[in-house]
Amino acid sequence: MCLEEPYDLITKDGLTYLNFKRWQLDSQLIHCFTTRLGGVSTQSLSSLNLGFNRGDTKDNVLQNYQRVCEVLCVPYESLVLSKQVHDTNIIKVTSQDRGNGICYTNKWDSIDGMYTTEKKITLVTHYADCVPLFFYAPKHAMIGMAHAGWRGTVNEIAKKFIEIWVNTEHIPVEAIEVAIGPSIGACCFETDEEVASIFIKQFGNQPFITYKEATKKYHIDLWACNQHVLIDAGVKVQNIVTAGLCTSCHENLFFSHRKSNGKRGTLGAFMALS
Ligand SMILES: [Zn+2]
Repeated sequence: MCLEEPYDLITKDGLTYLNFKRWQLDSQLIHCFTTRLGGVSTQSLSSLNLGFNRGDTKDNVLQNYQRVCEVLCVPYESLVLSKQVHDTNIIKVTSQDRGNGICYTNKWDSIDGMYTTEKKITLVTHYADCVPLFFYAPKHAMIGMAHAGWRGTVNEIAKKFIEIWVNTEHIPVEAIEVAIGPSIGACCFETDEEVASIFIKQFGNQPFITYKEATKKYHIDLWACNQHVLIDAGVKVQNIVTAGLCTSCHENLFFSHRKSNGKRGTLGAFMALS
């Protein structure tokens, strides 16, 4: 049996990005997860670095954003960059936030999740091993993203996100679809007991936390852990898709903080209503 991948890797104007098949034919939604291919940055940042804090020139990074905007057909001024600090703060973005973090200095202290119902806004979150969570309620034209590193995952930013949409925005939970993008997989996310014990304390003993006797190390499956949190929050299993791509295993395609010992560029997740 050959299971079909839930995503496509699309190359347009020399830039390669990941797109979830489930949402590809939805003309209301623009979304992508970038790879490292298609930008102007060099060496360890080669080539589509979207991080202003990676030692790259500002001009290179701005050119890289411009390239993504052209490929997605979204205006540069529509970008809204988050301020990710591995916490669980989530904000509703409006037209007043257009350009945050790129056309003008970022105005937030701690934002790991963003959502909106407005058009002409392109949400942007950043990654290099952490888990990208894409949220979409098609019938309600609501989009959002959360950055879930291991801290965001164990602190259940995914659940917090769902709770805001259900309780504050009155979206029925069964109307919410979630896509889990590329990140470090259980294959490469090896931890010591200190990190594993935080997961065990939060979730109990779960199949997504495993111990390898040979190395005396733990491996945590952040995709399965986020799935667990989402299902616990009421999201339907059939409404969750997972790319299943490990950033550390695919260093030719992605930036990986762990694989590169921190010498890496930054990937971006983009979402907009058209
Ligand atoms: Zn891996």
